Amino acid sequence: MKTPFQVIFDAQKIHERVAELAGQIAEEYSNRPLMIIGLLNGCFIFLADLVRQLNTHQLSLIIDFMRVSSYGSETVTSGKPTLIQDIKIDVKGRHVLIVDDILDSGYTLHFVIRYLNAMDPLSLKTCVCLDKPSRRQLDIQADYIGFTVPDGYVVGYGLDYDGRFRECPDISIFSSDPGVAHF
Ligand code: 5GP
Ligand code: MG
Repeated sequence: MKTPFQVIFDAQKIHERVAELAGQIAEEYSNRPLMIIGLLNGCFIFLADLVRQLNTHQLSLIIDFMRVSSYGSETVTSGKPTLIQDIKIDVKGRHVLIVDDILDSGYTLHFVIRYLNAMDPLSLKTCVCLDKPSRRQLDIQADYIGFTVPDGYVVGYGLDYDGRFRECPDISIFSSDPGVAHF
């Protein structure tokens, strides 16, 4: 049977890269308590791995979540993110790191950065597991990036297609052949 998608980063490779990222983040925030804000749903596995790696560096963390949607069940962004669930902890006076699964068009991260900046954090940076620069619509870059991916729809490691495949430990990309992507 033909598989509709192809593994681009396996679990071992992801584990190694997340450990490296955590090392970089821990260096920057070694003397500063850090608030991590995860963007649900896609961030949940990346964030869980990242914060446990940060814990090995004895970083002091506060963790909260937001939910922003711009997709519905489509695979193309509507370009209009909306806030579905807000954070519960105030960001004012805190060093904040936004964690998301993938930076694609940039609309989501741009929206969240503007939203949180208005609440006066001490600093605000961004960390994404994946970066897909080929699809960027806004001039925005993440401060910490796990992997850069080519154009295509990726799933696994928290990323879904209509709610499916989030649980897959590897990151896979759909074949560019549209005939293959029926499942
Ligand atoms: P952006 O607003 O940057 O276009 O996209 C941000 C959100 O869209 C991500 O947090 C993710 O949930 C979703 N997204 C963008 N590209 C992909 C992709 O290739 N695969 C999956 N599963 N989700 C994506
Ligand atoms: Mg997301």
